[in-house]
Amino acid sequence: MKQARYQGKVIEAAEGVDLKERHGSQLDFRCVECGTPARVERAGGHMPDRFEHLERNDHCSLVHRRRAT
Ligand SMILES: [Zn+2]
Repeated sequence: MKQARYQGKVIEAAEGVDLKERHGSQLDFRCVECGTPARVERAGGHMPDRFEHLERNDHCSLVHRRRAT
């Protein structure tokens, strides 16, 4: 997903990558929809900067699903 919540604000993945590099540790990012913890992933290969849920959450529409239902 492209955005996550951090310290009460919604931020873009590029900002998340920047924050992580500056702080050098895992930060408390949260999914904007379900509010569960998320981590930031730096762009690599064909994937852009992005956030991913720490744990699979089948109830959140922002989860990357393997197949459409
Ligand atoms: Zn979510």
